[in-house]
Amino acid sequence: MPVAPSTHVDGSPDRLEGLPAQAARGQAAVRECSYRAASVIVAAMSTTVLVVEDEQPIGALVSTYLRRDGYTVVWARSGEEALAELSRHPVALVVLDIALPGIDGFEVCRRIRARSQLPIIMLTARDEEPDRVAGLEVGADDYVTKPFSPRELVARIKAVLRRAASGAVHGGETLTAGDVALRHDAREVTVDGAAIELTAKEFDLLACLLEHAGIVLSRQRLLEQVWGFDFPGGTRTVDVHIAQLRKKLARPELIRTVRGSGYKALAR
Ligand code: CA
Repeated sequence: MPVAPSTHVDGSPDRLEGLPAQAARGQAAVRECSYRAASVIVAAMSTTVLVVEDEQPIGALVSTYLRRDGYTVVWARSGEEALAELSRHPVALVVLDIALPGIDGFEVCRRIRARSQLPIIMLTARDEEPDRVAGLEVGADDYVTKPFSPRELVARIKAVLRRAASGAVHGGETLTAGDVALRHDAREVTVDGAAIELTAKEFDLLACLLEHAGIVLSRQRLLEQVWGFDFPGGTRTVDVHIAQLRKKLARPELIRTVRGSGYKALAR
């Protein structure tokens, strides 16, 4: 996938609402954001939004507005970074720019869709109809055209999250096994009623096992379903994540190792 031409970018600062007044705070936000990234996992119950934007002023502005609205923000400056951050944080929604260094937003969207229904809002250039159509074709839930008002973006984010919560995106299903409950819409897992923090991969892995409770899933199948077909790592990745998951759930009987075959979750 070639990198989208830079003409798709319209991030001239003067076209972004409120930017001059925000510039200094934006810089502070950048520094604070990197501190916050380390504490995201322990930021209980705050909805995490992954912002994928290489342009400093836009990323800073969007982060500032989202944080002001109570969201936890993880900011990635490239597609590769975005995919890496997804496995580190319990992301509820992705704001994804199209023109990025390295792999572009369309490709990032495709790779996310290969393994999850995580809500995605794409940032597209004004009047670039083909971008909007392509964005929706690769599975984006919505798009916002640049230059945009941050308030509009926040409103769109809320609308998409509402739709996700009502089950229109994920199916508002709750999967249970013993006292472990997994809610797709909230991307939340509770053990005996208490929420536990899982990374996106651990969540997807548990969801996959619970969806197929009682059935043995091979490491290869788990790798394909959770990481996608183009994942370069080996099946050892699955073992490492299963070990983490078992540790966090503290329910050793829930996920069984079936020697020579793979893993299975207890039947509901
Ligand atoms: Ca960009």
